[in-house]
Amino acid sequence: HGLPAVEAAARELGGGGTILDAVVAGVEVPELDPDVTSVGRGGWPNEAGVVQLDASVMDGTTRRVGAVGALEKVATAAAVARRVMEETRHAFLVGAGALEFARAQGFEETELLTERAKVAWERWKAEREAEEGGGDTIGLLGLDASGRMAGACTTSGLAWKMPGRVGDSPIVGAGLYVDDRAGGATATGVGEEVIRVCGSFLAVERMRSGDDPQSAVEAALARIVENAGRTVQVGMLALDRTGRIGAASLQSGFRYAVHRAGRAAMFDAKVL
Ligand code: ASP
Repeated sequence: HGLPAVEAAARELGGGGTILDAVVAGVEVPELDPDVTSVGRGGWPNEAGVVQLDASVMDGTTRRVGAVGALEKVATAAAVARRVMEETRHAFLVGAGALEFARAQGFEETELLTERAKVAWERWKAEREAEEGGGDTIGLLGLDASGRMAGACTTSGLAWKMPGRVGDSPIVGAGLYVDDRAGGATATGVGEEVIRVCGSFLAVERMRSGDDPQSAVEAALARIVENAGRTVQVGMLALDRTGRIGAASLQSGFRYAVHRAGRAAMFDAKVL
């Protein structure tokens, strides 16, 4: 789902949007796509069969942040997170309060649980095994021609999670961090492990201290390995203020999309 997302982000930027507009527009593509089972509508539900979304946004120029956790019924969680940033004096709203806020902001309520996800959840409940519940959060980092950066990270979280469980994606510094004086980073995979090391903040601080983005994500993943060993999956992306990219994961299968100078392409992250 990365390719259509970066293409939508580039269109938004090309049409005069800001870099923040662009990253939010980009992640909205998988959020609204019912066939993407890890983000927004169509995402795998929690163990009670309810889809609860987590998302965050960060403006790398002002370092303002907004986030929502365990948001139900509204697919465009990153756009709600942006409203939290812009329309409230808070940084993070969760659960019923996040939904109430989204409603008040005019967001449309929909059933996020698709038939396919419901069937998978029922099978998991019956047999405790199902289509692999491993997530595939989308984290989108943007850099414009004037050096402004922004990021958005949005997910339905780990499949069959406990109700109320919040992962790394909406936690600023864990699933996402952007400071355009240094760079941006985002994570996917087992959020609990990313939270334990403040993964995205760690990668950005490494870039601030002079690491290139590849070394920065490898250092953050090495910290995760110290805690959790090598059997978990975590993937990380980083982008520095000069446009260099870093991408690595602990297990194979983590792919990412890049849109640069009018062209989009997919790449395999380095497996550590
Ligand atoms: N990181 C997400 C979470 O823990 C899930 C994923 O990226 O697969 O909620």
